Amino acid sequence: MNPQIPSNLTSRKVAVIGAGAAGLVASRELRREGHEVVVFERSDRVGGTWVYDPNVESDPLGIDPSRSIIHSSLYDSLRTNLPRETMGFRDYPFAVANKDDGKKQRDPRRFPGHQEVLNYLEDFAFDFQLTELIRFETEVVHVGLLEENKWVVKYRWRRRRGGADHVDEVFDAVVVCCGHYREPNITEIPGIDLWPGKQIHSHNYRVPEPFRDQVVLLIGNSVSGEDISREIARVGKEVHVASRYFTNGMPTKQLGYDNMWLHSMIESTHEDGTVVFQDGSSVFVDVILHCTGYKYYFPFLETNNIVTVDDNRVGPLYKHVFPPLLSPGLSFIGLPRKVLPFSLFELQSKWVAGVLSGRISLPSQEEMTADVEAFYLKLETAGVPKRHTHNMMDFQYRDWLAAECGFPPSEEWRKRMHEEVRKKKKTQPETYRDEWEDQHLILQAQEDFRQYLP
Ligand code: FAD
Repeated sequence: MNPQIPSNLTSRKVAVIGAGAAGLVASRELRREGHEVVVFERSDRVGGTWVYDPNVESDPLGIDPSRSIIHSSLYDSLRTNLPRETMGFRDYPFAVANKDDGKKQRDPRRFPGHQEVLNYLEDFAFDFQLTELIRFETEVVHVGLLEENKWVVKYRWRRRRGGADHVDEVFDAVVVCCGHYREPNITEIPGIDLWPGKQIHSHNYRVPEPFRDQVVLLIGNSVSGEDISREIARVGKEVHVASRYFTNGMPTKQLGYDNMWLHSMIESTHEDGTVVFQDGSSVFVDVILHCTGYKYYFPFLETNNIVTVDDNRVGPLYKHVFPPLLSPGLSFIGLPRKVLPFSLFELQSKWVAGVLSGRISLPSQEEMTADVEAFYLKLETAGVPKRHTHNMMDFQYRDWLAAECGFPPSEEWRKRMHEEVRKKKKTQPETYRDEWEDQHLILQAQEDFRQYLP
């Protein structure tokens, strides 16, 4: 137990679901606060999304509920879209020399490949002795509220080790850290049932080779769409990208490419293999690749409809973490998107740990409900679609969390570096990972990290 935490705090038995970045930092913070922690992890190792799997699911579109499930959505060539300085946990920098003991292959690049992130998370779990808290190959299949604010967690071992198939265990609180990049979101396309080509979701994209000499249409141009379209253009015959953000009228050629065009959204698809766009143009297409994001999905959670997922809004949640009517026993770490994930998970975890121990107070249920309603109204008034409820572009939220936990706000260099990289990503999507001008911010970050590095 952390000696700085007073001993009069309540220690609770807490279940954490998932041992990805969120579950790891949540379990560290919960244990630091004096709670008894059990982490349930379906796979046989830590890292979640960052455990690359070259296999793909049996349904490449990812909609058949009986398909074989693969958790990670990483593609082989993936490099981080954040520089390592802003990507790591705040008190455990993702620094080049963090843990170079010669045992693992390290990737010193500022925007490293995915294996380096997995190395970092494994080091984090090792250094804080978190694996002793984790029950691997154990899938949570049901979480439900019992009387007296207790929670039942029903789980099964993926490889049955004798005894019962399912086991029930009672907890004081459940912290959901199961990730949200597994359940594909698919755009409805008129005429698609008769269209003869192949469809896949980017969740099942690994390497460009299967697309050699093909005409490929990608829907969506967020980070994965950007990376994948450029990668396929190197081997494919033609690449077309349809996005609701391309509204310039006729298709335009992607700068620097002879075989890539940007289009408005799809109007219809046809039996002869053609796809017609809203701008009136049409092309023959072999494969449609949906880069249309993911749905929040909690198949194990039973709350009598107190918490629902409606048009990709998980709610009602106070500050994206606590459902007012079920707080503090149920909480979610890691829902916000378009953020600096790891350090945000860290703050959310400190908040949850402190609330559960009684060190930090929540407002009353009525006040939390009123706050959530006011937030939803604000989004609606600003014309923000419900599905973007958890998109957070600024540092206001994390600084609010830090203040609740008695932590200083985000470092100035982190804010400025994030802004610089965001701009660069937009203007130089192909080179932002290897060319930069914010060396002065890197130096400030490194100076700051000295207090944490051995
Ligand atoms: P996950 O990493 O998904 O972990 C969830 C864990 O929960 C998994 O281990 C899973 O097996 C387990 N689990 C799920 N359900 C159950 C169950 N019922 N029972 C038991 N265990 C369960 N972030 C960045 O910071 N930088 C990047 O460059 C970046 N690039 C990305 C690129 C892609 C293609 C994707 C998909 C995401 C990227 N992210 C990036 C975001 C990344 O997902 C987060 O950084 C972070 O890793 C999410 O951690 P998590 O713990 O919330 O979820």
